[in-house]
Order: sequence, then structure tokens, then C-alpha cells
Amino acid sequence: MHSSDLGRNDTDSEHQHLGLQAASRLYDDSAHRVSDGQLEAPTSEKGRNDWALEHQVQVRVGTNNDLVYSIAVNNKDVTLFSTKDSAEGLHLADKKIEHLTDEYRRELTHKYKVRFSHEGEDVEGQLSFDAQGKVRHGEMVHARAPRLLELANLKGALERGRPSQLLPNDNHQGLKFYFLKTPLRKDADDAAATHVAHDKDGKAAIYVGPDGLGENLVVKDGKQSFAGSIDEHVVLHELAHNSQARLGWLREKQFLTYSRALGFDPFVSPAGETIFALRSKSGDLYRVEPDSLDWLSINDKGQYLDKNGQVSDLQNAARLDPGKMREAALVRPATFYFSNPLEMAAESLALFKEGKGERRKLLQESPELYRFTKDQDQKDINQSYGKNADGKPLYLRLPDGRLTLNNIQAEKLIADFEKAAMIHLSKQ
Ligand SMILES: [Zn+2]
Repeated sequence: MHSSDLGRNDTDSEHQHLGLQAASRLYDDSAHRVSDGQLEAPTSEKGRNDWALEHQVQVRVGTNNDLVYSIAVNNKDVTLFSTKDSAEGLHLADKKIEHLTDEYRRELTHKYKVRFSHEGEDVEGQLSFDAQGKVRHGEMVHARAPRLLELANLKGALERGRPSQLLPNDNHQGLKFYFLKTPLRKDADDAAATHVAHDKDGKAAIYVGPDGLGENLVVKDGKQSFAGSIDEHVVLHELAHNSQARLGWLREKQFLTYSRALGFDPFVSPAGETIFALRSKSGDLYRVEPDSLDWLSINDKGQYLDKNGQVSDLQNAARLDPGKMREAALVRPATFYFSNPLEMAAESLALFKEGKGERRKLLQESPELYRFTKDQDQKDINQSYGKNADGKPLYLRLPDGRLTLNNIQAEKLIADFEKAAMIHLSKQ
């Protein structure tokens, strides 16, 4: 059992806090009507497992022969409450989970201004491309409401993502999370999550794919367990795309400036195609091959070049896999995913916020990209939280990803962290 910021160890205060007494009365009334002994009988393993899968909340028989309910938050077991071991008990738990989920949703909305899809809400028509490559919208994709497990685990990513979740030019409203029931794309695999600049209401949003964010309760050989943890990197990556919108990446001039700082040299080919050319340390240009994510040698007109630097066709173009391209790149990307400047920067900002270990690695492996990312992040922070009278940022990001008021201690902590990372590197 683990105490957490859910703060639900004291069941009595929890009842009051969550207004669950009303829910208990509701249950009492119905029990009077249908009390026939069956509702009072202990639950079966199958009954508990079905309930657990449906609600994504673990339920087990406790030492007092009651039912104990829990979820995993940041890989730690958090006990929520307990009920009698009976169908009535499970029914009461339905209501309690509903209340807790509401409370959580309200808390995240209050604290981070983010909003969430409701059960059955329209998202947009399913995407496909016709023969001419034009986008078509098919049948409506619907969303569901987030589950307690998802909300509780999203909190950590939102805390470190701040202020990326706020809408561009609006510090009072955050983006909306849609949890999709069916795939957004008709003919291709969906990403785990997708940032969209304009949802059906014209505002920024993150679409979470039908597989959710990675944290699931599963039943295997009759036993309930949590399959893993929420993919915080994915959340921080998509939030980073929102920061890009906030920082003006979608304006052409700004986009070119930032792209060049990352070693990209985007241009429009004589054929009218936009090519995100990436420069190597030796000054050569490469473009990504979308399916393989390999990088192919090109000239400044976008024509493929073979190993001898002669114009060739795609098959004979000199080729680097993502690992080799990463080594060869003028500015070393943070991960193997850098098919264009937006993706390279989103990966880097996600790692910068993910935690000490990831931020240290980013600094050690890609110092230039680290500085660019830190600068971008600080601009983003200043946009929402402003500066002191002396022109210094009011907030800084600590190595663990959280924001802190700017003061001498915080500055020193960050400087020491960066110095230690580089000293450690030179000793390797
Ligand atoms: Zn992305």
C-alpha cells in the first residue's frame, strides 16, 4: 500500500470529501428493494475480473473478506477504498469510481486548464487520402471519457509538461485530450497520440489513439495486473508540438530560423516539393525516406546522389540508417526520430522535461541541441509566467522537470547539474 498525492488513505474523510455518502444512500435504497440474498453473496473471481477490466481498477478480496480497490500510479499501488464482498459492494464501487474520476478530471482541469472528451463525443471524420493525395473525411470517429487510471497517471506528465498544455496566445485555456474509440486514419497505423492544431471547435488538442496511453489493467490466468505505465514520453512529445505552436514554429520565417538551428535546410524543389534536407557535419544534404526512415543523399535541387556524388535514382542513392545519420548530423538529434525539424525538436523537448536522467543524457550526447531546447523551453515558460522587474525569468525548469520560482538556489542547482553532467562525460 502506498500513500500518494491521491490522498485516499483515510476512507472516512474521503467519504465526506467526495460526497460519497449520497452515493451510499442511493445504494441503500435500492438494496432494500432487491435484497434477495443473491446480491449479498460473495463475488466470483470472474465477476471481479470482469468488473476490473471494465473499470480499469484492480479489485481483490482483502484480509477482512471485503473487496479492496486500487490503481497503479507511477508504478505504485494506490488503494482507493473498500466495500463489502458482494454484488452490492461492486455496485457501490461503480458509483465511487465515477465520483473519483469526476474529482480527478476537475482537478486536472482546474490546475492545468486541460479538458477531456466525453463518452460518445464526436472527434472528426476518419481520415483517408484519395488517389490525388487529397484528404478525405469518412465516418465520424467518436471519443470516450478518460478513465481514473489514465487521469491519475496523466498528472505527472502534465506537471512536467507545463506550460506546453496551454493554448497558443491564451494562458487561461489548455488543450483538450480526446480518447479515440476507433482509429483516426483509415488506411494507416495510428500514432499512439497526435497533436492537432484545430479540433472540431477550432482549438488545439491531443488525440490519444484507441490503444490508450500504455497503462492498462489486464487479466492473465485469472489474475489482475497492470500492464505497464503510462507512456509519458508520448504525452510530453505531443505537448511539445503544442509549445511549437505557442512559439511561432508555424510561421514560415520562424520555422526556417529554428530549422536551421537544428541543422535542417528546408527548401522547395524545382518540382514544387518541400524537402526537409538535413545537413551532415561534412556539409552533405540528406532527405528522409518516409517508410524506412533511412536518409538518402541529395543535392540542393533535391536530386538523389549515389556514393560517388553523382545524380542517381532512388534505388542507387547513398543511404544512411537513422543511427548513422544521427552520428553524421551537424546537430546530433536526441533520438532516432527526427524526420523533420518539428519532430526532432519535439523529441528533444520531451527528453528535457522527462526527468534528470533523460535531461543529463541529452546534454551529454547533444550539447548544442540541449542549449537550443533549453532556450525554447524558457521562451515558452516566460510567455506564460513572465519576467521579474530585472528582466530575469520568473520561473525556471529544474532538472527533474518541475517548474520553480527563479532564485539563486534554483539557478545554482541547475548550473551544478549541468556542470556535473559534463565532468562525468569527460571522465568516461
Ligand atoms: Zn510528433
